[in-house]
Amino acid sequence: MLVIWNGDRFGTKIYKNGIHPLKMCDWQSSLARKYKINLIKTMIYRVFKIVSGHYLGSEIENLKNIFLNSNYPIKILNNEINSFFSSNKSKNFMGPNSKKIYLGLNYLGEKTETFANKIKNLCEKGLPGSVKVEVYFRKNSSLLSNFSKNYKNYDQKESPCVYKIPCKNCNLNYVGETGRILSVRVSEHSKFRENSALSSHHKDLGHEIDFGNANVLFVESNMRRRKIVEALCIQKYPHFLGNTGYDLKIF
Ligand SMILES: [Zn+2]
Repeated sequence: MLVIWNGDRFGTKIYKNGIHPLKMCDWQSSLARKYKINLIKTMIYRVFKIVSGHYLGSEIENLKNIFLNSNYPIKILNNEINSFFSSNKSKNFMGPNSKKIYLGLNYLGEKTETFANKIKNLCEKGLPGSVKVEVYFRKNSSLLSNFSKNYKNYDQKESPCVYKIPCKNCNLNYVGETGRILSVRVSEHSKFRENSALSSHHKDLGHEIDFGNANVLFVESNMRRRKIVEALCIQKYPHFLGNTGYDLKIF
């Protein structure tokens, strides 16, 4: 491939070294006709893939001359060239003035992909050869990202919070919220007096709860917001059976 700087953009052409062939296998040779036709197709495709839109016309013309030198009938050459450029292979053809548009969509499930394809088709059919749409998907931001993890100047250990206590025997956690400080709440939990998901996990499965690794996930003094964050954190972390929170009715 030969890369050329045009003053304002790069272009590509077929690179021709000293031994670049000026002839192909001759049309009169005793090779099956099918293979000769396929040779034309392959060479057109090669030019199409390598050469930038600006030089496509002249490079196709060069290719045609090489085949004419090899006694290929002009009618067959023209047919193959025309059928290639009206076929699917060239539907992504970028003309010299064509633009690539990058479109970012927040991914909201499979329907986002269907929507992206519709937009792509509409643009490319409506403006053939002049626009190519590349869609990329962004991970949708989570509800939890609307809450900040910390308040400035708040001491995590001394503030109302949403917290997580892991199990020592499995990868599950207890997620809870408290309007008091974490250590007080943890010491209550450690007595297993309450009828909670934490107590059941310990009593029913015989698993040891890792109170030493209890940690604050979010500092939040507003009770309602804390309940929402708790519910979102329960969804986020693998949790003990029965560890349910505030019933979030989002939709
Ligand atoms: Zn466990």
